[in-house]
Amino acid sequence: NNIVAIVGRPNVGKSTFFNRLIQRREAIVDSVSGVTRDRNYGKSEWNGKEFSVIDTGGYIKGSDDIFEAEIRKQVELAIDEADAIVFLVDVEEGITPMDNEVAKLLRKVTKPVLLVVNKVDNAKREQDAFEFYNLGLGEYVTMSGMSGSGTGEVLDKIVEILPELPEVEEATEELPRFAVVGRPNAGKSSFINALIGEDRFVVTDIAGTTRDAIDTKYNRFGFEFNLVDTAGIRRKAKVKEDLEFYSVMRSVRAIEHSDVCILVIDATRGFEGQDQSIFWLAEKNRKGIVILVNKWDLVEKDTMTTVQYEKKIREEIAPFTDVPILFVSALTKQRLLKALETAVEVYENRKQRIATSKFNDTMLPIIEHNPPPAIKGKYIKIKYCMQLPTPVPQFVFFANLPQYIKDPYKRYVENKLREIYNFEGVPIEIYFRQK
Ligand code: GDP
Repeated sequence: NNIVAIVGRPNVGKSTFFNRLIQRREAIVDSVSGVTRDRNYGKSEWNGKEFSVIDTGGYIKGSDDIFEAEIRKQVELAIDEADAIVFLVDVEEGITPMDNEVAKLLRKVTKPVLLVVNKVDNAKREQDAFEFYNLGLGEYVTMSGMSGSGTGEVLDKIVEILPELPEVEEATEELPRFAVVGRPNAGKSSFINALIGEDRFVVTDIAGTTRDAIDTKYNRFGFEFNLVDTAGIRRKAKVKEDLEFYSVMRSVRAIEHSDVCILVIDATRGFEGQDQSIFWLAEKNRKGIVILVNKWDLVEKDTMTTVQYEKKIREEIAPFTDVPILFVSALTKQRLLKALETAVEVYENRKQRIATSKFNDTMLPIIEHNPPPAIKGKYIKIKYCMQLPTPVPQFVFFANLPQYIKDPYKRYVENKLREIYNFEGVPIEIYFRQK
């Protein structure tokens, strides 16, 4: 997927705009989990083209008195990590010095940049917008975030400037693609080095679906797999800031490009907000997930047991808790093979296809035994179900009155399904449809 970053100084209307962009899809996808989380990242679709959107403003805390340096940093990251950049300005305020700073950075960029003038609510404002030609970024589009007018044209333009995605290489499709993700200093590089060793078994370097993500094929302990690397990881030495935005943004591409995300967390720090953001990114993208609690060698075993630790993490990742959690040490190489084996298992779990007749034979009696609650005297009957032939596990249950089946029942079905089949580490989707 292409990644579009929205940049601009505080209060130009980035979050309103962001919400508009992701609304249509979000509304469909997220009604499933019923969980609201931070909304700095989402997927958008326009004219059949899908892309990811990142609201860089969402990562700034107390954004009213934000330093110019901070904005600059965010724009630089957006330039590094995104495929296209939307620069939002505000016609009410006109061109501010900060806008000029941002424009200066964007003028040097070879990636597509779209200048969007916001808060254009009437003809006078349309006139006022001319001044933004002075930013030296060429043509702009106007819109009103409040009323939503102009959003369609902005979306047309975004889709127009997005680079074409190269075809996915067939060869890389057959091997599991693992992305090692986590916040800075969790031990990702140490883990990869411990696993791969200095004598890297590089077989091929295949450019992936995006310019920066690179699959490198390895063969370790009898397992063949691709590790998804990103330009961001290589740049690590240069950008040292322990910035949530940075590591999340860097993770986006790697996650989207992978089958299974190996989320490395630092045992001495616990599962924090940033770990949660990355976990959620992986879940939202319906990727397989393995959690590695790294630096376990540093934890005093009498103060904290794995059972207690695991319980705390599961509370943090609820409601999707069917995820393997392993306690490892990249330093002492403890349980590294197990970590790799588990990632391969999750990959297999995610790939499994359940034959329709078997699936019906198993699931229908369970449903009959505990059917969805009747509504207004009407019984809800589920007569048939199947797994869809999609890359991500999706199941559809055909019912006479699917609209009356509520989330708790859906969760019940998911739990039963997980008890019977092994979908450990794999987000699944369940739909109820008219038969
Ligand atoms: P990254 O930013 O996630 O790639 O983290 P690094 O791999 O660079 O590791 C950050 C720091 O943690 C380095 O000083 C590592 O030596 C240290 N470290 C990584 N894994 C372990 C571990 O399992 N145990 C201990 N004690 N230290 C570790």
